[in-house]
Amino acid sequence: MSISRMTALVLASALLAACGGSEEGNTAANTPSTSAPAETGNGPVFANVDQARLNNAASEPGQWLTFGGTYSEQRFSPLDQINTENVDQLGLAWWVNIDTNQSQQTTPLYVDGVLYFSESWGQVNAIDASTGERLWRFDPQVAGDIAGRACCGVQNRGVAVYEGSVFVTAYDGRMFALDAQNGDVQWETQTITDPELWYTSTGAVRVANGKVFIGNGGAEFRTRGYVSAIDAKTGELLWRFYTVPGNPELGFENDAMRMAAETWNGNWWDLGGGGSTWDGLTYDPETNLLLIGVGNGAPWNPLVRSPGGGDNLFLNSIVAVDADTGEYVWHFQEIPAEEWDYDAVQQITIADIEVDGEMRHIAMQAAKSGYYYMLDAYTGELLRANNFVPVNWTSGYDMATGKPIINEAAQYTMQEAGTIIQPGPAGAHGQATMSYSPETGLLYIPAMESSMAFANAPENIDGRFNLGMEYFGHDYAYDDPENTIEQGSRSRLVAWDPVAAREQWAIEDVAVGGTLVTGGNLLFKNNGQNQTMGVYDATNGNELALFDTQSAAVAGIITYEHEGEQYIAHVVGGPSFQGYYAPTYARLLVYKLGGTAQLPEKVEFTQRPFAPPEETADAELIAQGDALYGENCAMCHDVGGLARSSFPDLRRTPLLHSAEGFNNVVLDGALSERGMTSFAANLSEDDTSAIRHYLIAQAHIAMNSPSPFGPPPEDVAPEDLEEVTQDN
Ligand code: CA
Repeated sequence: MSISRMTALVLASALLAACGGSEEGNTAANTPSTSAPAETGNGPVFANVDQARLNNAASEPGQWLTFGGTYSEQRFSPLDQINTENVDQLGLAWWVNIDTNQSQQTTPLYVDGVLYFSESWGQVNAIDASTGERLWRFDPQVAGDIAGRACCGVQNRGVAVYEGSVFVTAYDGRMFALDAQNGDVQWETQTITDPELWYTSTGAVRVANGKVFIGNGGAEFRTRGYVSAIDAKTGELLWRFYTVPGNPELGFENDAMRMAAETWNGNWWDLGGGGSTWDGLTYDPETNLLLIGVGNGAPWNPLVRSPGGGDNLFLNSIVAVDADTGEYVWHFQEIPAEEWDYDAVQQITIADIEVDGEMRHIAMQAAKSGYYYMLDAYTGELLRANNFVPVNWTSGYDMATGKPIINEAAQYTMQEAGTIIQPGPAGAHGQATMSYSPETGLLYIPAMESSMAFANAPENIDGRFNLGMEYFGHDYAYDDPENTIEQGSRSRLVAWDPVAAREQWAIEDVAVGGTLVTGGNLLFKNNGQNQTMGVYDATNGNELALFDTQSAAVAGIITYEHEGEQYIAHVVGGPSFQGYYAPTYARLLVYKLGGTAQLPEKVEFTQRPFAPPEETADAELIAQGDALYGENCAMCHDVGGLARSSFPDLRRTPLLHSAEGFNNVVLDGALSERGMTSFAANLSEDDTSAIRHYLIAQAHIAMNSPSPFGPPPEDVAPEDLEEVTQDN
């Protein structure tokens, strides 16, 4: 599918505001109305967080100062006012509406009485934790027509605070320092090397020792991955670490790139190389290393990416660099010459644990590959590699060499026909935050199980998104004669013993979402498209409470103590598969013991009915429309006309009745203010006619289906789409 000229249909926030409502959060009547945090010493009044506070965040359990709670990214809080004995009294305290229909993946911070959180596009809010009042909101004004540059939405996962500033990176790669008191921009800098390339930035920024760290996504669109370190005071670039080598003729940036280039062949730089750094970044103050999770190659097919072979460093690796200088220190490559989109960018959690009779300072990752990796955080030595979901691409790791034993049957590059791989490209773990409790000794992994059929297609590299291969839902495209791989997908919360490297127990059939574990022996878990947050006994997984979030809940959950009371908070919002193009009720939700606030009743969204004109086109025209739709429309409106997120379901549009009306939008740009820019440069009137007739045919198929949403479009099941929205 070529989407090189794709422009995105994005609803402007003005329109979305009309859907989201505008009432401010309902505040419990008995909360005091103070707002500003108390002035302390000589520092700034707001976000007075220096390096000592960040290093010692564990000694201030009432705060949530960094994305992962502390630098260790354990997402564990020792707070225990809310516990297994009284959690039945936990209730909603207040909430704040977010005026967008885009999906929310952010983790809020709580700093001295103020909650700071990002939302989609990299917008930022500061909320008074006493009153629920919005103190300020920042909008980076990202151009909406670049929404299609990310596979999976315009979300942002989080901000960082440091010495009076709040840092965020917008979707288009611009990093901002905001005055924590009023949201004023202190500086702005572009972290993307070439804004014409399809880089995007959705990750949470991290800050340490006066440097702000951020990566980016885009390997699927032929970019070259890297992480930038920006001066927190000036916005100046301090260092940049590339994850794959560039063109040797232009000179290598450092010895690490020279070493990595030995593992590549051909003209890999022409296709970017890949190695996105879209999520996992961990700063470890004990080692002063920045651990970088590195994504898949560009394109996926290694025969195309690096003809002649090679491991292709540092794809699918965890790389440690000196946080001061960006100099390479060590790496562990999870999968050499990887071909399945198993990014190694998932959360990297640091802990001190006794392993094989010795206290070790370790880094843990539950990766997209389905494997749990435990590394020595000083050296990168592989200590454990065990799968936490069923996988078929490897039979395990050779612990002496640290390399996986690849199963050739799962390598589409080794097969004539397609082959089934497990997990599928949605992966076993995406951005959903895991947590580790030093008290239970368990790691809580939001795990996904899936499979997919892949086929070698080395010639398939002409377009932006063409990966040198093809993939299909295997129940539609390929048979599994031995019936060994379950079709479809499911999600489980796996409670994992990190030392024994095995599952202790699991919570079955919960949609995937972020987690938090507390000293009250409580595991909090967002349940994704189920639109709930569950609270479970952290020891055994027994469900203790369940909250209706009225919207997809996939982001991280935090806890903090404010004026003597423990609170739980999370941001919800995202597409629901109960109603495409429906309001998503994106909100910050805040809970406490005895909370009695009630969300307004959710207005059930009614889809516009299917009412297409009579089908008159022949199969050839419809097929032509299918191809054009795939190239031009599917990136936003999804395959088969099935809308996802806030993009309308085109099978239901009344414009299907009028060639003139359809062209008015598609060619003349009548809805360009909402983000649906003109496609006149790409499409002729004959083309739009073919697309319209293809959509009419799709509408007839859906109308005659027993499912209210129509059948799965050709080769993608709705549950696969659901998972894909979780992942870059
Ligand atoms: Ca990827």
